[in-house]
Amino acid sequence: MPECEICGEESDKLIKCKSCGAKFCEDCGSVIEKRCEFCAEEEIDDDLVEDLDEDLIEGVEKDEE
Ligand SMILES: [Zn+2]
Ligand SMILES: [Zn+2]
Repeated sequence: MPECEICGEESDKLIKCKSCGAKFCEDCGSVIEKRCEFCAEEEIDDDLVEDLDEDLIEGVEKDEE
């Protein structure tokens, strides 16, 4: 069974990150966005940090769980 490159857990459902190419399990990134948790954080920093304060960014992350 393939292993998640983020947490090392075996999973039969791995998603390939479209930003860095890492294969990750459902717990380690956004299945819909196809980004691992590291790249998802970078995306928020690049695009949203200008307009949103830290409290709102935390809210966005919670929505994805
Ligand atoms: Zn994982
Ligand atoms: Zn990634």
